[in-house]
Amino acid sequence: MDKKLFVISGCSGVGKGTVINEFMKRNSNDFILSVSCTTRNPRPNEIDGVNYFFISKEEFEKNIKEDKFLEHANFAGNYYGTKKKYVRQKMDEGYNVLLEIDTQGALQVKEKMPESVLIFIAPPSIEELEQRLRGRHTEDEETIQKRLAQVKTELERSQKYDYTIINDNILRAVKEIEDIVKDK
Ligand code: 5GP
Repeated sequence: MDKKLFVISGCSGVGKGTVINEFMKRNSNDFILSVSCTTRNPRPNEIDGVNYFFISKEEFEKNIKEDKFLEHANFAGNYYGTKKKYVRQKMDEGYNVLLEIDTQGALQVKEKMPESVLIFIAPPSIEELEQRLRGRHTEDEETIQKRLAQVKTELERSQKYDYTIINDNILRAVKEIEDIVKDK
């Protein structure tokens, strides 16, 4: 069977990371989670080459000029991108590749590779997402408002996705992704 490219995006605070980790635990035989390049600083527990390839702005821009990215985007002031070569290599090694990227990047992938499958993870409702963001007590009001505005933009872009999954239960969301990928 031909190897496929799947793209998963979701609003911040939607529990996307948990769903993807669980999916990967159960499907690591034939799926690989792509490692992106970014210019943002590593967080304390992040490892170069595992969570991201952390590169400088100059190196990132050189790669853009040389057309090395399948897609790239500017998110919250930093560059993020997926290398064409990385995806090709993993497919050649026999894996289906999963990209966990933002909505701008996902739509670029769809344009270049129409056979890729785009999956959006949505919150049960904007109200619930707002409660979750506030419940973390990690962001101030201004940041919360910015994130909610961003959520609305992402929900609009998600209309171009192939599938939207509502994350009201992690295991059910994982099962829905499994049903989608099995079908392809
Ligand atoms: P974080 O800085 O929290 O790790 O990621 C911020 C955002 O960047 C998330 O929405 C994540 O999905 C997105 N992202 C991570 N890697 C890539 C990438 O290679 N390309 C694009 N377009 N977005 C990415």
